[in-house]
Amino acid sequence: MNTPLQTPAVPTAEAIRRFVDTRIQPQAVQMDQDQEIPRALFTEMAAQGLMGLAVPAKYGGTAADYATLGAIHEELGRGYASVQNACTVFGMVCKPLSRFGTEAQKAKWLPAIAAGEVIPAIAITEPGVGSDIAKLETEAVKEEEHIILNGRKKYITLGQVADLFLVFARLNGRGVAVLVERGTPGLRVEPLHGLMGLRANMLAELSFEDCCVPAENMVGKVGFGFTHVANYALDEGRYTTACGSVGLAQACLELSFHYAAARSQFGEQLRKHQLVQKMLSEMITETKAARELCAAAGRLREQGDPAAITETLVAKYHASKTAVLAADHALQIHGAAGCLNGNPVERCYRDAKIMEIIEGTSQMHELQIARTFRL
Ligand SMILES: Cc1cc2nc3c(=O)[nH]c(=O)nc-3n(C[C@H](O)[C@H](O)[C@H](O)COP(=O)(O)OP(=O)(O)OC[C@H]3O[C@@H](n4cnc5c(N)ncnc54)[C@H](O)[C@@H]3O)c2cc1C
Repeated sequence: MNTPLQTPAVPTAEAIRRFVDTRIQPQAVQMDQDQEIPRALFTEMAAQGLMGLAVPAKYGGTAADYATLGAIHEELGRGYASVQNACTVFGMVCKPLSRFGTEAQKAKWLPAIAAGEVIPAIAITEPGVGSDIAKLETEAVKEEEHIILNGRKKYITLGQVADLFLVFARLNGRGVAVLVERGTPGLRVEPLHGLMGLRANMLAELSFEDCCVPAENMVGKVGFGFTHVANYALDEGRYTTACGSVGLAQACLELSFHYAAARSQFGEQLRKHQLVQKMLSEMITETKAARELCAAAGRLREQGDPAAITETLVAKYHASKTAVLAADHALQIHGAAGCLNGNPVERCYRDAKIMEIIEGTSQMHELQIARTFRL
């Protein structure tokens, strides 16, 4: 890979807003229908600095601070949730790689990812293990200079097209994280089609049968896989998913404002009916509250405050629920028009629900928040 270490400046939320309005939103219906984000869009996004948001400048990234990162993910979520979630996955691989990876791993992969030449994916979930990640069953065996992987992974975002997988497994009972390149013998990738939401995320199921990678592909120490690498990735993913959910809620609000002004019933614009106003008021309030929770989490993250982990859980919990509420109200305000395939609120309705499942379900958030407050 011949990646020059040149990178655009850290993108601003305003620049990304323009990019979203001109390049992402107009393609969203097509991407949802095709169940695909075109590779060319990844290249365009890389040119905007979006693929390197979690990559240090030393490795060709744009290394955005958390306030900027949050504002950018809100814009992406407003544009199209599948694109926003793809960027979340880039962060979930690049952040732990930057922190726990060896110098050789960072030098090899981070510049190529930031340049959009390499698409990464993170493979935690298995057919039999979802929320309870401490019970992962994929097995890693160390043999001299190699690691042999056996097991299966499911629901892997970008799995259909990823060039590099950050895979979590168990070695002598202890968690490990291992980089596996696409095309490694023993790795099989099967597309998963027909998702309800985030349909363009090109999910895949992976199977590893005596899949042999160099021992130097391990990220972090043996035993750090779940406790450090996966948890760090999930914490990062929760923050950007929370901000993306705010964007999705904002999109529902904007679509509803527009429709409630354009359509009249009983001789008045929908927006003049008090019961419609109630829905809009609720959407405005909850979206603002979710945005503030994300901002609070972002500030603590920037300071490296340990309280950032709980604040991020709270933000993701509330923002994902807000996206669901806003999408529900938006569909209600649009009536039958919102139920039509191809209408943006119909897509938002399907996408919003997924936000309550990825990077930890709402129930897992409730349990973790309760634990933090020693309930
Ligand atoms: C669009 C999409 C993209 C995804 N991308 C990725 C990816 O890139 N990489 C990856 O590794 N995974 C990915 N996933 C998987 C995702 O992380 C899991 O779906 C999630 O962790 C939940 O696991 P599960 O679906 O197996 O649910 P389960 O863990 O089986 O849970 C099912 C239900 O039971 C509840 N539940 C479970 N345990 C408890 C408990 N102790 N108390 C109360 N309730 C409980 C859950 O909250 C949930 O409601 C993706 C999923 C989707 C839908």
